[in-house]
Formats: sequence, structure tokens, C-alpha cells
Amino acid sequence: MPQTIEQRLKAAGVERILLPMGMADPSMSHVNVWRLGAQVIVDTGKDDADTRTAWQHAGGLSGVTDIICTHGHTDHMGLAHYALQTHGARIHVTTAEIEAVQRVFARSSAEKAGVRARFLHDLGAFSSGAGPSSPLSGAPTVPPATHLPLVEGQVLDLDTGFWRVTLGGGHSKCPALLVNEAHALLVTGDQVLPDTAPFVGVSFADPDADPLADMIAFLGRWNDTDPHIIVLPGHGDPFSDPGRRAQAHLASYERRLARVWTAAEQPITCAKLLPALFRVKAGQPVLDIHYAMAAALLNNLMASGKVERWRDPDGVFRYRRR
Ligand SMILES: [Zn+2]
Repeated sequence: MPQTIEQRLKAAGVERILLPMGMADPSMSHVNVWRLGAQVIVDTGKDDADTRTAWQHAGGLSGVTDIICTHGHTDHMGLAHYALQTHGARIHVTTAEIEAVQRVFARSSAEKAGVRARFLHDLGAFSSGAGPSSPLSGAPTVPPATHLPLVEGQVLDLDTGFWRVTLGGGHSKCPALLVNEAHALLVTGDQVLPDTAPFVGVSFADPDADPLADMIAFLGRWNDTDPHIIVLPGHGDPFSDPGRRAQAHLASYERRLARVWTAAEQPITCAKLLPALFRVKAGQPVLDIHYAMAAALLNNLMASGKVERWRDPDGVFRYRRR
């Protein structure tokens, strides 16, 4: 009889630690930390009181010598600075992720507010009929003082065997994934998830970037993957067949791109596009992440020449399909 996923993880010596996210959405209620050896973990959870309490129940961070961070988002790297400062843990993460964390952390609140206001203005969030947008709450990730850079092809020799680093992109600047060939395991962070397609959004400070192109290229690389492989995701339960999930994620982005393209038959602002993309009504409050996601879709359509953009007399971007 084939082994269950739980049996295979046990045989590999891999353990899952569930940490709280404080979110109502069931697919985002927890963040996973993966223990890949007695003293080695992947990701840390958020930097908040609930997570510190959960860590106490899970045996604490004091015995951890090495933390491999898939990416710099606060739910994955939140306690890395604390583990380094308090217990001297080594933090392994790609340099591009650390630099992104450092840039956001260094920005003053006035600077942050200015960057956000400019971004939202350009997308029509302050024009008449647009729903007011509320910022995401929560403090940014505190960058750890030092890190050991993860690079493509690097092999980590751990209690649970050899784990090869491979780099992704799209959900964040340069996330790391880990492949264990002997046990057919793949740690994906947030690049491949069991339920909804990973968040892909434009960062306010880099409004013309095309992160969706990075995500689509990344997912394309996993199309033909051994279905026997078990994915250890950043959120939700482990699952097999990463190729099938990658295809479902790609189809989901394609559907959203098609919706934007259809809605842009007449010149339209990003703000006016939101009801076609998300469950929001025209003029109703939205979240900054809705704008970030919609901008990523628009930028991708512009890069492929399917949509054009110009500024109207108020300086707000108008988009129209070609
Ligand atoms: Zn993330």
C-alpha cells in the first residue's frame, strides 16, 4: 500500500509546526514552519505575542541553530531577527529578499505615506466613484543584522538529507525553494500553495514592475514535475503533484488577465477595474492589496502589448486594450 503523506514526512524526519496568522480566511489561518532537522527550521512565523506563545508550546527557538527563510514577508521571516539576536541562530535567505526587507524597513512613515499616495493616485483611487482604499495593518519585517545568502543550486546537508536550493519569483523578489530528491519533497514557501493562487502584486515603490511575468515563468518550470513529489507549502496542508497545482495557478492568473483585458474595452482606470476582478462593488472600500494585484495584471498586459496606458488630464493612468 502506498504511504500517506504523513507517513512519508515521518519517514523523512520532517515535522510541521503550525503558527497563528490571526486571519479569518481559513486558507490563511496558519503559517507553516518546517523542521528539517533537530536544529534547523524553515521560516519563523510572525513577530507577535501569539506566535511567541505558540513557539513556547513547540519547544522554543533556543535550540535552533539555522533558520532558512523562504522569503522576507513578515509571516515567514518575522522572528528571524529575534532568533539571531537572542540565540545566535544563523539566518539563510537570498540577498535580494533581505535587501527588499531592508528598503521597506528603512522608509520613514512620511515617506511610506507619500509613496502609497502617489501609487494610489496614479491608479485612480482618489478619483470620483472610486472606493477608498485601506492600508494593510502590521509592522514590516525587522531585517536580521546578518545573513548567509542562499543561491541557486546550493546544497544544504541537514539531518534529513540533502536539500537543494532553487530560486523562484513573482510572489516576492527572489524566494528560495528547497528540493529533497531522496524523499521527493519540495518546500515552496508561498510560490506554490494548496488552495488559491499565490498573491502577486506590484510594490508601491516599484509601480512599473511586472512580477506576474516572473510568476508565470516560474510556474512554467514546474509543469512537468514528478507527481509523486510532496509539496511542503508556507500555508495549508502538504500535498502531492506540484505540477498540477502549478497548472491550476497559471490558469487562475490567465482568467484574471482575460477579465482585465475584457474590462479594458473602453479607456478605464485601475480603480474602475476592481469590481471586475474582486468581490467589491463600485465605490465600496477596498484594500491596498487589491490595487497592488490589479496593477500587476495591468503591467503584465502592457508588457505583452495587449493593453496601452496614458495619463488623463488629472494625471491618472487610463488603460485600454489594443
Ligand atoms: Zn509571502
